[in-house]
Amino acid sequence: MERISKLGIFGGTFNPIHLGHLRAGEEVYRRARLDKILFIPAYIPPHKKQVNIAPAEDRLAMLRLALAGRQEFVPSAIEIEDQRTSYSIYTLKKIKRLYPQAEPFFIIGVDAFLEIETWKDYEHVLEESNFLVMSRPGYRLAEVKEILPNRWQSRIAWLKEEEKESRFSSDYTIYLVEINALPISASEIRDKVRRGESIAHLVPPAVADYIHRHHLYQDGL
Ligand code: ATP
Repeated sequence: MERISKLGIFGGTFNPIHLGHLRAGEEVYRRARLDKILFIPAYIPPHKKQVNIAPAEDRLAMLRLALAGRQEFVPSAIEIEDQRTSYSIYTLKKIKRLYPQAEPFFIIGVDAFLEIETWKDYEHVLEESNFLVMSRPGYRLAEVKEILPNRWQSRIAWLKEEEKESRFSSDYTIYLVEINALPISASEIRDKVRRGESIAHLVPPAVADYIHRHHLYQDGL
């Protein structure tokens, strides 16, 4: 039987995946001593109002290119295969079936976490998984404490530089992780492509090449 492993669950629209996602993944992987991170593109993201979403297959293909050669970062089609709105509660249940020996850690930027109370069954998701909430330019990590109801307060902890294995609590915990986040967003990348500007410093070369060859993000809102 596979040993208990610490499994990162990094969901997003990844429209497209960019160097900000990769930097964030690298940092939490090291700091939280994860064994593996699944990068999971949403099929239909429930929280995005944007219109210009590339087809799921293209977003997955770009993710595969960006993660190629890294054993610890695994592209996952589990939300795309379901072909429905990608609620985290469904994803978590599926992961628990697929990886019964794994301890789950949702990896999420603070901007996205601050909307958690709008998620389907969000209390259930908080009850059943750890969270690694990462800083992001323009947002305050401490705001996590301010938005969560009292019953979650004792479950929130700051993740210090390199956490020793023993320091991890046996309860599911919401870790606040101050990272060296890069000021990059997918919306900025889509805007640049539309304006014909270079995105070479924002995404891996293979992703820039894919976007150009498939004429992604050239119009739309
Ligand atoms: P958009 O600009 O289209 O809203 P995005 O760049 O925020 O997209 P998403 O795919 O929506 O990318 O993000 C997936 C997850 O990655 C979210 O939890 C988000 O907070 C986090 N994230 C995105 N960019 C960064 C970054 N530069 N640093 C840290 N976390 C990030």
